[in-house]
Amino acid sequence: MANQQIRSILIAGGGTAGWMAANLLATRLRRLPIEITLVESPEIGTVGVGEATVPAIRDYFKAIGVTEAEVMQASQGTVKLGIEFRDWRAPGTSFFHPFGRYGVDAFSVPFHQYWLKRRMAGDETPLAEYCLPTQAAMRNLMLLPPDQPVNDLGVFDWAIHFDAGLFARFLAQRARDTLGVRHVQGTISAASRDGESGRIASVTLSDGRSLEADLFVDCSGFRSLMLGQTLEVPYEDWTHLLPCDRAVAMPCAHGDELTPYTRSTAREAGWQWRIPLQHRVGNGYVYSSRHISDDEAAATLIASLEGEALAEPNMLRFRTGHRTKVWEKNCVALGLAAGFLEPLESTSIVLIQSGIERLLAHFPDRDFDPSLADEFNRITALEYARIRDFLLLHYWGGQRGEALWQECRALDLPETLAQRIRAYKGAGKLPRFEWDSFQPPSWLSMFAGFEIIPARYDPLADQFTTEELGGTFAQMRAAIARAVSLAGSHEQFIAETWAVP
Ligand code: FAD
Repeated sequence: MANQQIRSILIAGGGTAGWMAANLLATRLRRLPIEITLVESPEIGTVGVGEATVPAIRDYFKAIGVTEAEVMQASQGTVKLGIEFRDWRAPGTSFFHPFGRYGVDAFSVPFHQYWLKRRMAGDETPLAEYCLPTQAAMRNLMLLPPDQPVNDLGVFDWAIHFDAGLFARFLAQRARDTLGVRHVQGTISAASRDGESGRIASVTLSDGRSLEADLFVDCSGFRSLMLGQTLEVPYEDWTHLLPCDRAVAMPCAHGDELTPYTRSTAREAGWQWRIPLQHRVGNGYVYSSRHISDDEAAATLIASLEGEALAEPNMLRFRTGHRTKVWEKNCVALGLAAGFLEPLESTSIVLIQSGIERLLAHFPDRDFDPSLADEFNRITALEYARIRDFLLLHYWGGQRGEALWQECRALDLPETLAQRIRAYKGAGKLPRFEWDSFQPPSWLSMFAGFEIIPARYDPLADQFTTEELGGTFAQMRAAIARAVSLAGSHEQFIAETWAVP
């Protein structure tokens, strides 16, 4: 059989998606004779936002052979232990979605079932008191993960906030200087297709240069140059489920708090993010243009800044959803070119990461066996839908009275989400679905945060009496208090570990 190995890959776009793809592909394919080229337009900027991540980003760092400290030093990074949701259940309330677990499971019964049993017997201690990262985050502390956690109480994870522009620059330098990625500055004006196969054959730059490749990776942002425009793959629009379609972003100087978490504050027509970095705070209001004007949204954001504004408002428009196929013929899209889900749980960068990993797991040769793209597209669609459901729960669960929130509560929910809500409300069950990005503790944190209480607890929780559980629970709280008392401040952690020299 003739060697049909892919010989060249062209990545279109030099934003977070393009440079993340360049680094991971060049690292994993380094022993193969595959030339990787990244084309970036000097005229078209990057989206310029995307500062919060989820813990999986640290796997990406490992995969490309860099340390957390290196990335953080290069990108003014801070720690993220989770997200605080302010005013979501109702104005004046707050709860936390941690990257961690609650309590200790026993006899294969999840901890929250025992907690529920105690609650039904009159113990009103919030679930959050049994979660170490929540307790540390609320005190602006950073825990050092134990090498070997003795039980679930010590199990937690953490992610990173970074300056997206600096992160992309760090990745670009590495890709060019260490990994041999060819960097072409130029604006793609057209893509030509092979008449017989319909595959993309080459792209033409506005200065007349032409670049050919076997495999094209579309990282061109919302334009979706190759997948959307050239190959005309349609977009599945979820605006009817997640109505926010715009954002205004604006960094400001630091106020008092360097929080080791993202803050999300519900607003009249959407929600506002606050992401602390070492050198500034990132802020943005994600809103529904049907419910508030651009000017009002910008004014709301500006009025709430904790420090001096460091830039003009950056107005962004988006459409929630994804391309019906993210891999078509010889083109795979990553990042905004593939789809977009609002940044409520910081899932865009992790979708880029899982997209690259999935491409590597289904890496084609020049025959492009359709089964590879089919499986890639099946998994990708599920991954987007699972995250969409998790985001929808955020809008559905609260009690706010404004029009946007009332409409979201009245939505006809996708059956996959309705099923999860029934399972939790009925018996406190947290089912796992194929290709879930968010695990049971994340779903639990939202249900508990919205004070949705199951009708009954697991009958197997009766293996312990309420009194026995009371004693054990007090020990857990004491152990968490001890761990918290040993943690250092977030500032200290950054100063000692990651400070920019
Ligand atoms: P872009 O950054 O838009 O880059 C596109 C690239 O394509 C650019 O280099 C451009 O020059 C190039 N290009 C375009 N057209 C051409 C052409 N014709 N020729 C050559 N090159 C071209 N994600 C998170 O994970 N966490 C967050 O907190 C988060 N917050 C967000 C907030 C908002 C309001 C928005 C809109 C997004 C947010 N995201 C977040 C998503 C995140 O910003 C993106 O997923 C990430 O930046 C990747 O963008 P990208 O590289 O796909 O596109």
